[in-house]
Amino acid sequence: MICRFKANIQIKNDAAALVEYLVKLHAENPEWYFKVDFESIDNRLSKIFWMSPEQKKMWYRYHDVVINDNTCKTNKYSMPLSVFIIIDSDQRSRIVATAIVCDETVSTYEWILEQTKNATGDLQPATIFTDADPAMQNAIHKQYPKSFIRHCSFHIRQNLIKKVKKKLCNKWDTFLGDFYALRNSIVMSDFEHRWTDLINHYPEVQEYCERVSYPTKTCWAYAFTKRSFSANTHSTQRVERNSLCQLHSGIELRLKDEAKYARWQEFRNMNPTTGMPRVSDTIFRNVDEICKKYLTPNSLALQRKQMVESLLYRTWIKEVENIYLLDSNRYDEGFVEDDYEEPQILINMALEACSNGIVNEIWEVRHLQSTKNRSQFVIILDDGSHYCTCLYLIYAGFVCRYFFAVMLQSKIAQFNIKLIPSRWYSKEGLSVMDKIQENSIQLIQDGEQRTGTFYTLNIIRGQEVYNEFIKNLDSKKEIFGRGIGLCKKALNLAIASNSHQVFENLLQQFIEQQTVSLSAQDDDLTEEVLGISNPIQHKGKGRPANKRYLSAIENCSNRNANSKNQDQDEVSEGSRKKNKRQCALCKSWYHDSRNCPSKNKEQDKENI
Ligand SMILES: [Zn+2]
Ligand SMILES: [Zn+2]
Repeated sequence: MICRFKANIQIKNDAAALVEYLVKLHAENPEWYFKVDFESIDNRLSKIFWMSPEQKKMWYRYHDVVINDNTCKTNKYSMPLSVFIIIDSDQRSRIVATAIVCDETVSTYEWILEQTKNATGDLQPATIFTDADPAMQNAIHKQYPKSFIRHCSFHIRQNLIKKVKKKLCNKWDTFLGDFYALRNSIVMSDFEHRWTDLINHYPEVQEYCERVSYPTKTCWAYAFTKRSFSANTHSTQRVERNSLCQLHSGIELRLKDEAKYARWQEFRNMNPTTGMPRVSDTIFRNVDEICKKYLTPNSLALQRKQMVESLLYRTWIKEVENIYLLDSNRYDEGFVEDDYEEPQILINMALEACSNGIVNEIWEVRHLQSTKNRSQFVIILDDGSHYCTCLYLIYAGFVCRYFFAVMLQSKIAQFNIKLIPSRWYSKEGLSVMDKIQENSIQLIQDGEQRTGTFYTLNIIRGQEVYNEFIKNLDSKKEIFGRGIGLCKKALNLAIASNSHQVFENLLQQFIEQQTVSLSAQDDDLTEEVLGISNPIQHKGKGRPANKRYLSAIENCSNRNANSKNQDQDEVSEGSRKKNKRQCALCKSWYHDSRNCPSKNKEQDKENI
């Protein structure tokens, strides 16, 4: 009892210190965003969310792929922690938003997602990776309607082990193979057939699969996710390995440490290339030079690796009629993206994707030591684009080794820095990009300089999220934040040294000068600047009446009624008591008295 009391005091003080710290940071730079919510009963911290100015800038630039991860109770507040992570241009995982919350309900998750929108001017991630928690899934549907939700591959496997392994006993191994084949189906109709087969073969897991897995198929089945950009990641494991282990060490410290995070190891499968000549200095020298000019060091290293490995492949030019077309794939040894040599799409689907352009050449590419009968195909188009069945350019944003192998043979294959999305560019690269149009590079010269429009590829990939509008907003906000900070510092000094009159005169003088020269544009400017600031929103005590949303996937009220029958296999009564909340009013599980349906009913009656 005494212990518990002490712990509460500790939490209160830590929370107070954290809030105080955030208030101070916000005062220094109004670009700091934070939001705090308190329990109505004892004024205890129930939710806190923050984003630093640097984190907001990273969100602007990298919200094409955002990874959300939630851990419960590993921090010193013993409250669930929710972090948002992006992969920066130098291949590092960076935390861009943090929330510490009281529970893991849909409404709490919605509150968190809402804060990211408030902080960043409603910029929703293009793709968001989650751990497949139904509550988060539901919150994302409501708050990020524009985002493409994907489930982290690590958690797909974990959830199967947790939910279906026991029910299958000795059928587990064959089930897992069949599940991978289903999950890795490239063709949509294959997926649907295999789904029906899976349900028929394993009736033990039908209930779970139909209730949980099927409704979210677009988030985890490869047929639906294959063509989306993933910044070269498909697992929140990337996050867990790097950052979450560091969260114990305290929030303030972690914020400083964050920039120093360890590098993430690129691939499980590595081609042996040590001892080979530095091809980036010789054969691919021109390509390498332009990459050096634009890319960050770690992105350059990834791109160079592809150049080096291209020497390990053989290429043949093919006529369309001579290509053996497959209409199906079966891959049951894990996630197909993890297999470095496995084609990620069928050649006929690749040709279909290119049907907007004019196909000039098709190349078959195969590893020198290939044991399996599998090839990649590289399609070269009239507008300079190329499309390769390994999809590395599409999901990772780097030119693949197969294309470099083709460049060594083809007279028309062109490399252009525009093939690589600008999200991998360094600061210098970004600024050069706006000033010059780089010519394409060909390794086999036939006297003609070709620089394509890359129209087909741009159609396939879509626009990058860091567009002119956001770039503009980003730089204005930076100037505004810095200016406010400077003014405050100067004003404090002026007051301390009793020279505020001098300071005011200086400002007045500056304002008069500028007003004269800018009088024509004056109105626009003030309007824009006003729109930029994010005023701190003070909030009184008390918790807003939260409407509790039920997940579409997991109908909570049904679960409560039948919970004893349904959950017997999974959780014992005792462990449930430990993990879940019990209502003080109606004594049922999964909600507390505040959200009790019976209480709400009574209130409704009173209102009538
Ligand atoms: Zn490729
Ligand atoms: Zn209740």
